[in-house]
Amino acid sequence: MRVNISKKQTRGPFVRKVEELSGQNLMVCYQCGKCSAGCPAVSEMDILPNMIIRFAQLGFKDELLKSKAIWVCASCLTCNSRCPKGINIAEVIEAIRQILLRKREDHVKVEKLTDKEKGDVPPIALVSNFRKFTS
Ligand code: SF4
Ligand code: SF4
Repeated sequence: MRVNISKKQTRGPFVRKVEELSGQNLMVCYQCGKCSAGCPAVSEMDILPNMIIRFAQLGFKDELLKSKAIWVCASCLTCNSRCPKGINIAEVIEAIRQILLRKREDHVKVEKLTDKEKGDVPPIALVSNFRKFTS
């Protein structure tokens, strides 16, 4: 697959917004993968946490906003504690969710979950989704 990456994209409004909302410097990530290695939700993610950071560095807005992973993330903060560069990955993921939510597009319809799904989903993930209705 051929990918074109321009400075306009990597320093564009999307990357700057993610950095502003998350308070993180995306450029210090060196792709060690420790965030993904410790993530308890990684088996359900289409884009791994270290890939989310790389995509955010590169301004891959559409790929991130369409991803399932940003909603699978349970905000458990394990990745934050493992990052040797001190990046708060969970805040970066929350920033991406916020960008989408501010467009009033929701991915998870909590009210449509079955009782079984509600029983299977970690409570913190449900809380994370309910929180989205409070803004
Ligand atoms: S905060 Fe999200 S991405 Fe980080 S370890 Fe927890 S579930 Fe995985
Ligand atoms: S742990 Fe930190 S430096 Fe390593 S890949 Fe994840 S975000 Fe990047």
